[in-house]
Amino acid sequence: MPAQLADYTPIVGEGVVSELRLLGECLSGKRVINVNSTRVGGGVAEILNRLVPLLNELGLDTRWEVVQGPEEFFVLTKKLHNALHGAPATFTAEDRKVFNEVTDANAAALNLDADLLFIHDPQPAGLIRKRDARPASWLWRCHIDVSAPAPGAWEFIAPMVERYDLSVFSAPQFAREMKIPQVLIAPSIDPLSDKNRELSESDIEAVLTRFGIRSDKPIVTQVSRFDRLKDPVGVIKAWRMARSRFDCQLVLAGGSATDDPESVAVLLEVREQAGDDPDVHILDLPPTSNLEINAIQRASTVVIQKSLKEGFGLTVSEALWKRRPTIASAVGGIPLQIAHKYSGILTYTIEGTAFWIKQLLGAPEFARKLGENGHNQVRENFLLTRHLRDYLLAFLFASKGHPDHADLIRL
Ligand code: UDP
Repeated sequence: MPAQLADYTPIVGEGVVSELRLLGECLSGKRVINVNSTRVGGGVAEILNRLVPLLNELGLDTRWEVVQGPEEFFVLTKKLHNALHGAPATFTAEDRKVFNEVTDANAAALNLDADLLFIHDPQPAGLIRKRDARPASWLWRCHIDVSAPAPGAWEFIAPMVERYDLSVFSAPQFAREMKIPQVLIAPSIDPLSDKNRELSESDIEAVLTRFGIRSDKPIVTQVSRFDRLKDPVGVIKAWRMARSRFDCQLVLAGGSATDDPESVAVLLEVREQAGDDPDVHILDLPPTSNLEINAIQRASTVVIQKSLKEGFGLTVSEALWKRRPTIASAVGGIPLQIAHKYSGILTYTIEGTAFWIKQLLGAPEFARKLGENGHNQVRENFLLTRHLRDYLLAFLFASKGHPDHADLIRL
């Protein structure tokens, strides 16, 4: 049975849970609808899966809808996603037409009757065009790193975004110059989900055996969708450099998201790069593999997150929560989670990543300390309860328009 609010008390304390209940009372009965573009795969779906039931438990009448579309729509939105992350792209009148037509079809198919519409990322952002005279608050939640978009990318979505009442970004450097208010709310992980809860040694061992991963040899892991922005090929290169000094295995555990048409090609590239090295384990996992990912993260000697761009990188908090020494790129929301050489390691290059893999494999006590500090960092800042609190405050602000509520939101 999924965790209920009271189950979090032993982890975060009575005060945090009581405060959530109080805030819930202020919004009791409000009809909230979340809209994103996939139910499985990626961090947004991961968060909504847990957030929606807890909002309902707090008394908000909360639904979660997903926009649908033909492949050409998701090819376009993936291009937009990459361009918002900085990859050069051009957007044509035909792109705009496809986007608007799919938006209109979704607006007609979805029941958007709610007090608060919480729209996630660019794919469903156009639903705002269907805003009518009914009193409702529209919030746009941006989960991606929009600090340095390619020319034309932000301009593609800005006319829609600026019609919302409030925008929410994950990190200060993503804030944009806009006519509407913006708040900063970092994402979070759920310590009680199958992805993150404690596991027994025998559960972990069973997963390793199932995937043919040895437990008597250090394991270096990256968990990520097969996406070029996660740089899985760079991880293989860094691991190869480190392996010349320390005998170790590499696990690349991933899958795809239904809104990402590129993952098949990326997985092929990864397999090609890995060759038939028996120490490289490439796991193409179904979206239900939460326990498996949990076990692999817990079994890892070192966890890598070598993203080239990253909105937040839930996988970093997942690894830190499990006290894993973590080496991650200093991009997007990752530096929010890791203080270099204190709660993990921040790197900029393949060579830097290789250097730190060797350092951590050679200094287990330092690695253990990083993991311990990382765990505390997540406990303080990146658990679901803090996230829930910030969203409730944002909902209050949006529905009452009272500036004092925004002041209460802390990053
Ligand atoms: N994930 C998963 N299966 C996979 C790959 C990733 O369940 O094959 C999960 C991962 O554990 C994390 C989320 O998907 O919870 C990815 O979120 P993140 O913010 O790291 O990256 P995103 O995919 O949203 O870019």
